[in-house]
Amino acid sequence: MSLHLTDITLTYPDGDSRLTALDRVTLHVPRGCLTAVIGPSGSGKSSLLAVAATLVTPDSGTVSVAGTDTSGMSRGDLADLRRHRIGIVFQQANLLPSLTAVEQLQVMAHIDGRRPSTVRGRAMDLLDAVGLAHLADRRPQQLSGGQRQRVGIARALMNDPGVLLVDEPTSALDHERGAAVLDLLARLTHERATATVLVTHDQALLSVADHVAEVHDGRLGRSAPARSAPDRSAPAR
Ligand code: ADP
Ligand code: MG
Repeated sequence: MSLHLTDITLTYPDGDSRLTALDRVTLHVPRGCLTAVIGPSGSGKSSLLAVAATLVTPDSGTVSVAGTDTSGMSRGDLADLRRHRIGIVFQQANLLPSLTAVEQLQVMAHIDGRRPSTVRGRAMDLLDAVGLAHLADRRPQQLSGGQRQRVGIARALMNDPGVLLVDEPTSALDHERGAAVLDLLARLTHERATATVLVTHDQALLSVADHVAEVHDGRLGRSAPARSAPDRSAPAR
């Protein structure tokens, strides 16, 4: 599944005028590819992810997920698309304090009208994939910041999304833990063939990305391959 943002402009009301948060941004992310978008605070990174997630409708331009243009879709169809196709990892993991790690993942079943007990196996498999199976019964306050981010990443993968959107996942972590989270995201992107967009202001962590694009004042700059191209021979999804 691929993600295509084409000629996206997004403005916000700003007093009597409008602030241009995204200025004719075009970004194509093939499946199995981790694209990092780097830019300073206020450059439009979170806005870009909100548009990619179909949570915010741009003034102009199109978002297409797996070849389907989302512009004409109803709110209900968009909600459906987000549920089944798009995983989002927020800056803070936003875990529920009273739930254990595995329960954080199991609650995702509710969104689909399934019982949490039916998805426990899948939740455990994903915790294992992020290296946390042994901490499945811990609550967020018993986990480190990096471990909480890993739970957030596993949760975003619960519905097997084709598109994974990640907002500054390392901002609360030290360099070493941040690097480990990025390695994990790269591995999951390649293994699960997701089209992954990671936005960050931290240049130091980008060696794992397949492509890097820079954003300044809402404009996307050059997009350079950061490392060898990923294997795209995985079966179509
Ligand atoms: P980043 O994530 O790179 O820090 P954002 O996408 O959050 O940047 O913000 C881009 C610009 O849009 C900033 O100037 C910010 O102040 C502005 N902005 C973001 N969200 C809103 C909003 N809901 N209303 C008005 N302005 C906003
Ligand atoms: Mg932001």
